[in-house]
Formats: sequence, C-alpha cells, structure tokens
Amino acid sequence: MLIVLDPGHGGTSRANVGPTGYVEADGVLDIGLRLRDLLTPYFAVRMTRQADITVELHDRTAMANELQADLFVSLHTNGGPPEARGAEIFYSRNGEWGDIFHKEAKRVALHVQRELVAATGLFDRGIKTWLINSPGSPLHGKDYLAVIRRAKMPSLLVESGFHTNPQEEALLKTPQFRQKIAQGIFLGLFVAYKDKLVNATPIIGGPQATALQLQEWARKRGAHQRFIDIAPVYMEYGLLTGIRPEVLYAQSGKETAFGRFGGAVTPTHNNWAGIKVKNPKGDTPEDHEVFSSPADGVRGHFNHICAYVGLPPVGVPHDRYFVVKSLPWAGTVKMVEELGGRWSPNPDYGFSIVRDYLTDLLATEVPPADELTGLRAEVARLKEQNSQLSAFLQQCQKERAAFLAEADDYRNQLQFIRSYIRI
Ligand SMILES: [Zn+2]
Repeated sequence: MLIVLDPGHGGTSRANVGPTGYVEADGVLDIGLRLRDLLTPYFAVRMTRQADITVELHDRTAMANELQADLFVSLHTNGGPPEARGAEIFYSRNGEWGDIFHKEAKRVALHVQRELVAATGLFDRGIKTWLINSPGSPLHGKDYLAVIRRAKMPSLLVESGFHTNPQEEALLKTPQFRQKIAQGIFLGLFVAYKDKLVNATPIIGGPQATALQLQEWARKRGAHQRFIDIAPVYMEYGLLTGIRPEVLYAQSGKETAFGRFGGAVTPTHNNWAGIKVKNPKGDTPEDHEVFSSPADGVRGHFNHICAYVGLPPVGVPHDRYFVVKSLPWAGTVKMVEELGGRWSPNPDYGFSIVRDYLTDLLATEVPPADELTGLRAEVARLKEQNSQLSAFLQQCQKERAAFLAEADDYRNQLQFIRSYIRI
C-alpha cells in the first residue's frame, strides 16, 4: 500500500491565513509530517513536499501517478466566513480517468471522516464530491479540484477545520490539536486498509502466549497479585471464544493498572476492562458494571469484545454488551489498533495496547522450572526475613516505650526533690 501525502500550498502559496497568524501552508505541512510518521510502520508513504517549497498542482498528482500510488491524500485547512466550522472531505467522483475510483475513494473517505471527527471533536460536515458545472466546457461534470481530477488513483482532499474561524484557528495553532488531526486521519486509513496491513494485530485467533508467560509478564510489570492470579481464567475464555487471551490480558493491564485499579473502578467491581453500565452518566463507580466474581468479570470482558468482533457471547451477557451490538460498526472490529475511537475516544488507545503492553508480553520469556523454584525460594526467604525484621522492630518500639516511661519517673522524682528543697 503506497500512500502519497500532499500538504497543500507552500512556497509562494502562503496567502491562506487565520485572523491571528495561522498559515495554512505551515499547518498542513506539520500535520502531513506527523501523519507520515504515524503511517510509516504500516504503509509505504511519499510526500509531495516536506518543506516550505512551491510545488505546482500538476506536479503533485504527476508524482503520485508516476509512483502508481494506491491513494492520494491532499491535506488542507478551510477558509470561509468566521462562523463556518468543521471538517469535511472531498473525494473522487469523475476525474480524467472517468469514475473508476469513485467507489473506493468514497469508502476510504467515510472511514477517514469518521475517525477525524471522533479524534478532534470537529463538527462533521460530511464527505462530498465537487464537480465542474460549466456546460460547453470539456471539463463539465468532472471533479473540480485538480488534485482529485488528475490523480490516477482514489484521491481525497481533507479539510481539517476552518482557520478563518477564531475558535478553530486557536486549536489549529497548537501542536496537540495538529497531532489529533494526524491521529484521526491515520486511524481512518488504518481501518480502511486493515485487511491489507501485514503488521496489524488481530484480536481473533489462538493463544500466542501461555498462562505462565502472562503471569511472568504481569510480575515484571509490578502487577497486583489478583491480576497475576486471574491469568489462567483469561486463557480459558480465550479457548472458549476464539479470541486471543493475551490481547485481552494486555488490555486489562492497561485498563486496571495491572490489577491495582485506583480509578472509578474498584477491585469489588470484578471489572477487568472498565466496562460501563447500560446508561452511564459519568465516570463514577456507579457508572461501571459489577460482576459477581473475578472469573465472571473475565467472561464479561470477553463477551464485550465478542460484540466488537462479531463472535457469539458466552452465557448471558451484561447490559452494555447489547449497547455495543446496536452500534453501526458492531462486529466489524478485527484489529487491536481499531479499538481507538470505539472502546475509547482516544485514537491512540489500541495502538497503545500493542505498543506499551502486548509487544512486551509476547517478548516475555518464562524462566525454566528450576529457576522458578529458585525464585520462589528466594521470595519465601525474603518474606521470612521481613517478618523477623518486623518482630525486631516491634521489640525495639516496646523497649523504647519502657525507657521513656522510666525517664518520666526520674523526672517526677527530681521535681519532687526540687520542690522539697525549696521549702
Ligand atoms: Zn488549501
């Protein structure tokens, strides 16, 4: 999959600016470089410009056509009256090669628009085509935007907010917001092409780790004992459902801080994945599902993911399962990376599970049995030493109290003698 990224304008084209100094040419270049970095582990990426230089419109598509890219993505921010706001995408309808790219461009545009809006919170102006309306012209009925009309591949022009709107300009001026834009577009492209990406991380599949490996990883990450103890139950439900147990165990590590909890969910919820109640009002303990036992909480975690990936649940599911089942994307989520924008509004959520948890888990080596015996003996010895030290500490504290009491006695006697002398 080769994607050509095209940060609009630049060089002599720097006229599009916001009311307080945002320059579209610079903003979209920064978004483009961020997007390139996010895409690189999964796609081949080329850019029409990587600096503030002039690139003619024709040369932008010519480069993509020459490379026979699979997708052309032009990056812009919008201009209009101050009240105009939101994100929109223009996509191929009828270009120089006819309408052959229309269907695929629309499919990808829908994914990118959905994730861009979810990641940024920008108003959703939808996906659009824009055709030349000039009867008599040879270009009548063709795509209006040159980067769409001339691309010999599906082409999108993404307008990530209006720099002419004071609120949106203020957002566009921050690197954090430009990162969110890049993350949203990236996730949209990831979801659109997930089946073609060799290093995406499937949720469904047989276990690629053992219970001992899960536990060894949990220990290394400083997990609470309850998180270590629940690992074999994850393995069982993995086999029952066909979902990779290590993926959900890694997710639980993220959701529960390795069983230490500390947020709105408490250990008594038996909720290993932060699953909400049917109609949550906020993020309090009452807004989270309570399961009858730690093992039943694991069943709930697997059932919840079943609604995402389209597998039948085990037993009677909890209420929130049915909420997920009713969503338009229910049953379509196949990769861990896609959980962002769905399980959590953060577009990085799924990538974080893979990057910060699962990769480390899968690389964990279980020490051989004799080494385990040695480690257990060492732990027992340290525990014993610990209890001896606490006993000694208690003894010291007792002696100190006795000594202080004795000192008090002497003080009293001394006072008595002094008063006696004074008389
Ligand atoms: Zn522009």
